[in-house]
Amino acid sequence: MARRKYVVGNWKMNGLTAALGEAQAIFAAAGAHPAVDIALCPPFTLIGAMVAAAPGAVVGGQDCHAAASGAFTGSIAAPMLVDAGAALVIVGHSERREGFGESDADVRAKAEAALSAGLSVILCVGEPREVRESGDAVDYVLAQVAGSLPGAFDPARLAIAYEPIWAIGTGLVPTVADVAEMHGAIRAKLGEQAGAEAADAMRILYGGSVNGENAAELLGAGDVDGALVGGASLTAGKFVPIVEAAAGLG
Ligand code: PEP
Repeated sequence: MARRKYVVGNWKMNGLTAALGEAQAIFAAAGAHPAVDIALCPPFTLIGAMVAAAPGAVVGGQDCHAAASGAFTGSIAAPMLVDAGAALVIVGHSERREGFGESDADVRAKAEAALSAGLSVILCVGEPREVRESGDAVDYVLAQVAGSLPGAFDPARLAIAYEPIWAIGTGLVPTVADVAEMHGAIRAKLGEQAGAEAADAMRILYGGSVNGENAAELLGAGDVDGALVGGASLTAGKFVPIVEAAAGLG
């Protein structure tokens, strides 16, 4: 199956109202590449304003709670993201898994809550440096996939993002061969868990220090269907070249 390229920006804890102009510039430039799906995930506080500033743009959250409501001070529920105008949510980012102690079971519960609320999901997995160095990265990541994947889902609404932790925000990237090996192994695992047809339809994004210079090579690797981009998603000047690289591969 031909899978559409998907380039998603994760603004993390960056962005005030003044940054909406960058989002507008990103979505305007992305409009020239209709073969590529684009989304931005700003902080919760900017979701509604970004949707209003860029009508028709696909905007998402960076996390959600597994419960639909309740006494969870400081948390955001999936239906709240929908209410704010979000169409998707990232779950299981390593900065949540590591910084907030989220387990695979927690990530799975969040993904299921998001899907139930009508959101699409980007489910992140990825190994720490010592696991890569010990040669166990594939086994580690496949265990994360097995433990985090929702029980039942529409493959069109669930993407996996492979993000080696040691590559996030460091300028380091795996070799193209290592990326292709990991993405192929993830797709095979998805086939075991969800069936061959679902696995073939699902998009698997690469994330970790993607920029305008390395995007074409990384996105051209086997079984790579797009990118989850952190630092380089904050400005149109850095993000649009990644979208252009994805469009060139379409
Ligand atoms: C991320 O945090 O999802 C990410 C990929 O960050 P960066 O592109 O900055 O490495």
